[in-house]
Amino acid sequence: MKIPVNPFKFPFHTLRPWVVHPLAWSAFFLGPALDWVRVDMLSQQIIYFGHALPFSLKNAMWLPFGFYALVLIIALATAVLGRIFCGWACPHNILTEWTRPIRGALGLEKPQPWQSRMWNTYPRTKPYTQGLASILALAIPYGLTYLLFHSVLPWHFLLDGFKTGQWNPTLVMGQGLFTLIGVFLIAAGHHFCRSACPYGMAQAFSAYQNPLFTPMEIAYAGDANKTQCGTCTGCQQVCPVDIDPRADLLKVGEFRGCWNCGECIDACAVVQGHRHQPNLLHFGWPQQAGFIK
Ligand code: SF4
Ligand code: SF4
Repeated sequence: MKIPVNPFKFPFHTLRPWVVHPLAWSAFFLGPALDWVRVDMLSQQIIYFGHALPFSLKNAMWLPFGFYALVLIIALATAVLGRIFCGWACPHNILTEWTRPIRGALGLEKPQPWQSRMWNTYPRTKPYTQGLASILALAIPYGLTYLLFHSVLPWHFLLDGFKTGQWNPTLVMGQGLFTLIGVFLIAAGHHFCRSACPYGMAQAFSAYQNPLFTPMEIAYAGDANKTQCGTCTGCQQVCPVDIDPRADLLKVGEFRGCWNCGECIDACAVVQGHRHQPNLLHFGWPQQAGFIK
């Protein structure tokens, strides 16, 4: 059995849920919340790190450049590292991963193992967790509208309704609409990322049509008959996009939806660890010497 070259000595993907996700989420939402960078439509100002610039055409013309620069960075990262933005930094996907227990409680996806254990041991908790999940599925998107809307509106405008009881009807309708979209996204879960997200599709196709370079993907070090796996299907079970990481090597133009999250690598490490065998899954580039599948 040939072991593929593992480009990473350190298993960075293990940091994804506990370090990268909170950091990416904070950058997306706390940047505006802490007035690092945002546009204030009420005072017509661009706020950045405590400074304020008038929202004139001359100043605002730099905003699209920032956006395009970000898109270019993500596109380049995708060309080399695959659909990694989706799995590691997309705020929607992070929300989707964090709300798995909500969907699990509401029967929209497989319950989390701790939920199944809890309901088996204490069956009477099930309706309570379902009730709590329903409340959270509504409360989380509603709460997030405040963070999102603060990108363009000051806190006092958003929170005045609580103090005065006078609610701005446009704001209420806007928050209502975004809350509904949030509820839909939480309910749809990874189905949205896999088959409906236009940005995910665009970056996937732009990277996977490149005849010169195939982005990073999961390498399988076992044989073609998967004899080393035995009856195990652990990697498939944990994959959020329902693919088999042991399937054939990607060909140019082929896109399976993998976002290189590394969950399958961790699952295999556990299975193979019990067997005192090396992990069968790794990250790698198909053009790399020694990369096999
Ligand atoms: S195949 Fe592995 S790396 Fe790709 S999405 Fe599934 S679990 Fe993540
Ligand atoms: S988790 Fe590892 S041992 Fe299990 S099916 Fe996947 S590659 Fe094979």
